[in-house]
Amino acid sequence: MLLTLTNTRTPATDLGFLLHKHPDRVQKFSLSFGEAHVFYPEANPDCCTACLLVDVDPVGLVRGKSQANGGLLDQYVNDRPYAASSFLSVAIGEVYSSALQGRCNHRPDLVDQPLPLQVQLPAVPARGETGLVHALFEPLGYDVEATRLPLDERFPEWGDSPYVALTLNASATIKDVLSHLYVLLPVLDNAKHYWVGQDELEKLLRHGASWLATHPEKEFIARRYLRHQRSLAREALERLDVAEDDDAIEPASDTGETAPNDMASITPEEAVVEAPISLNESRIRAVLAVLDAVEAKSVVDLGCGEGKLLYRLLKESRISRLVGLDVSIRALEIAAARLNLDQLPPRVRERITLLQGGLTYRDARIEDFDAALAIEVIEHLDLGRLAAFEKVLFRCARPRVVVVTTPNVEYNVRYETLPAGRLRHTDHRFEWTRTEFRDWGRRVAEQHGYAVRFEPIGEADPELGAPTQMAVFEREAA
Ligand code: SAH
Repeated sequence: MLLTLTNTRTPATDLGFLLHKHPDRVQKFSLSFGEAHVFYPEANPDCCTACLLVDVDPVGLVRGKSQANGGLLDQYVNDRPYAASSFLSVAIGEVYSSALQGRCNHRPDLVDQPLPLQVQLPAVPARGETGLVHALFEPLGYDVEATRLPLDERFPEWGDSPYVALTLNASATIKDVLSHLYVLLPVLDNAKHYWVGQDELEKLLRHGASWLATHPEKEFIARRYLRHQRSLAREALERLDVAEDDDAIEPASDTGETAPNDMASITPEEAVVEAPISLNESRIRAVLAVLDAVEAKSVVDLGCGEGKLLYRLLKESRISRLVGLDVSIRALEIAAARLNLDQLPPRVRERITLLQGGLTYRDARIEDFDAALAIEVIEHLDLGRLAAFEKVLFRCARPRVVVVTTPNVEYNVRYETLPAGRLRHTDHRFEWTRTEFRDWGRRVAEQHGYAVRFEPIGEADPELGAPTQMAVFEREAA
């Protein structure tokens, strides 16, 4: 497996100082699972490229091991020598350890300077989820190019492989780039070659220190990095100071039905707007409480996004039928990964369905549910399309209970990082005052034969109200 790093800022050969590897030399390093080599195919003042070539010894890997996992053939015939995986992370940690820690004795001034860097990885495991590659790297400021590789280029009819060729471009420090790769390559690979324990947790926190807490996928990253060991992942998140209140982020979202694959990406700055008040968790709890009270057994989450709420709803054994619908395929891919759909036991798997669809067109698949949820969704619809959504939901689908939440725009002045007059997310088409939301809710309820009540979510300000407002509609007896 190969990792190339290219710097194009003159003098580009500064890269040699940063990596502690002289551009004129080829160096070899011994690793517990093989060898690593560092060399520079190009080293001139305008462009300098360092290659880290890791040669995994597949026979050495299994020597002395039992046949416990996967059988003998699997031990010898696998992707470990080629795919960028946790082996590459370990190699980065050993071969580029000073650079990863941000040490550069000869030129300490270089460490914190962002450089125009390009990272190339010819084969990165990305099983059925190219969206995930983007979702992991884009929030860190990378321009991501992920090209799906064929299984065998001589036999196109065999289709795609589970690997992508990945090129990342960013203006970033070497230290940050290496720490991102160190953590995210095993996350993408999702198959660590060693036991995960407290040590790994410490590594995750150390290498994620400067960026993980504000990453929209931090929960997913922690879970995968720590091999789905929930207690470790929980500890990691708590120590990142987000605890259970995993809501440093407003979910990224689409611009509507016109461009389902082009999810507006959210910058870390936007992401932390709502962070200090644990709003996402409060919303989830408020919704769970309503569903509990009305004993909903079938629930459809409209505009389910990346599935944070679905993840919690699936744990409610009372809910025997759960559907998540969203217009964004990419959000649904992330939801499927978050929910681990492929690996759920059949009895759990059969309770949940993810559907791609729009909310402003009648859809029989969302009809016949006890409860429908639209959590932080209406503000993503054009005001002109809201009436269509009302009809689809309240006239056609007509669930027994509808829960709608939306930001309370009055509260926005409390967000220090949000410039005056700006909405909380670039894709919000509107944000309403409490009066506007109540007027809307009362009108809709009356028109369609529902009773409605309103509840604040999040810590309320005496004058401005709470950050999120919720309307709970209950269908009146005919
Ligand atoms: N309910 C989720 C996501 C909120 S973000 C949560 O609370 O975390 C809004 C979501 O609505 C996005 O995932 C976006 O893709 C989706 N969305 C926007 N317009 C839509 C439409 N017309 N039809 C279906 N989904 C839509």
